[in-house]
Amino acid sequence: MTETDCLFCKIVDRSISAEIVAETDDALAFRDIDPKAPVHVLVIPKRHMASLAAADEGDGTLLGAVLLLARDVARAEGVEESGFRVVTNTGEDGGQSVAHLHAHVLGGRVLHWPPG
Ligand code: 5GP
Ligand code: ZN
Repeated sequence: MTETDCLFCKIVDRSISAEIVAETDDALAFRDIDPKAPVHVLVIPKRHMASLAAADEGDGTLLGAVLLLARDVARAEGVEESGFRVVTNTGEDGGQSVAHLHAHVLGGRVLHWPPG
């Protein structure tokens, strides 16, 4: 399903450009336009899903595909050994600004905890 007003659906269908780094049948990985770390890649399901809060029981395989692609990206970007973080900001308090589920893959520097 493609949501016509969704920025990330437009990246999926290539009507908006992005630096795509990896892709599977179900998920797409592209560089964040405003990186917060030397490695900052967003991994999204190709099918529109507004957020993790909108996921249901039938979405387990798709969510797994997103996490596995995040792992592959970390490996390809050379941060598998040094460490990395996968974050899915959800809703207003979670800091979500794009309403299409995305996993941030961050690495290449020490990531502090907890986030502010
Ligand atoms: P959120 O704030 O929802 O967790 O993350 C959204 C992310 O999308 C932000 O890190 C932001 O920099 C990134 N972003 C917003 N617009 C675009 C865009 O047009 N292209 C790319 N590649 N990233 C974007
Ligand atoms: Zn979407």
